[in-house]
Amino acid sequence: MSNCILCHSSSGLMLFKATSYRESSSGFPEQHYYKCSDCGAVYIAPTIDKSIISNRYRDANNYLGETFSNAVVEAYNGIQRIKHATQNQSYNLPMLSSAIYHRELRSIKPGKVLDVGCGDGHLLIELERSGWDIYGTEYNEVSLAALNKQYPGKFRNPESDFSDWYDTFDVIMLNQVIEHIEQPSELIKILLPLLARNGVMIIVTPNLDSWARHIFGRHWVQFWPPEHVVLYGAKQLKALLARNNMSVIRVQTYAEPGTDYGLSFRTALNLPNKTVSKSEKLLWYPVSLLGTFMLSGSQLVVIAQRNN
Ligand SMILES: [Zn+2]
Repeated sequence: MSNCILCHSSSGLMLFKATSYRESSSGFPEQHYYKCSDCGAVYIAPTIDKSIISNRYRDANNYLGETFSNAVVEAYNGIQRIKHATQNQSYNLPMLSSAIYHRELRSIKPGKVLDVGCGDGHLLIELERSGWDIYGTEYNEVSLAALNKQYPGKFRNPESDFSDWYDTFDVIMLNQVIEHIEQPSELIKILLPLLARNGVMIIVTPNLDSWARHIFGRHWVQFWPPEHVVLYGAKQLKALLARNNMSVIRVQTYAEPGTDYGLSFRTALNLPNKTVSKSEKLLWYPVSLLGTFMLSGSQLVVIAQRNN
């Protein structure tokens, strides 16, 4: 009942009762977060029935506009850096300055990108402006219909047949998605054949090893029941990818002062108003930024490629 979602070990230690600051998550049976003694992941148990969860994604609006535009810009730059580095047979990315990247960027042609769990598609539309050919999967039917009207055939339900998308995508993005997945290996197995040769997967997920998590502990907002079923650090994400024939090219973290610091702080103090003001964001910005420089930013960005 409390096996690790990631490595299936049964030696998990219960950390705390999973409580959310959100009204909308009340009414579920009591769940707990466990820490896996074998792989270090933190996971929820018992998980909520899959059909209830997918209905939440289908109906609710709270996942449509989920935006971490910093991550997207960062990820986008990351893609370009990797493409450039791949062309130059060099993976020594951190050695190159960002000024060089930007100069080299202009000569690289954007390709096809798939955003898994694309919500209202705004991240993709942002990328389209830079020349990317955009595709997505999404549970929400209203959003799916709207996107398909504008981009016929390019947006699908996650349970669709994808065989005509094999060997297609230069980039597959999972932005704030993998922490929702109860069988992450199964998802990777579905997505892997869709990558084009030299294609990359960019995974952005809350960082279990972040300062925000350590500062706020159980009040860290990313302990977000019932949806966030597993939380990863870089080590756990690397292990998941390695088990699925993928290698990590690059790991970085970035700052999200508003949610991960501001909202966690409000949750820890049990403040009734959960809206983080601009000045609060500003207040949290220095520590958030410093955490990022120390590779302990509140969001983890991992870029991976298929082996062979
Ligand atoms: Zn485990």
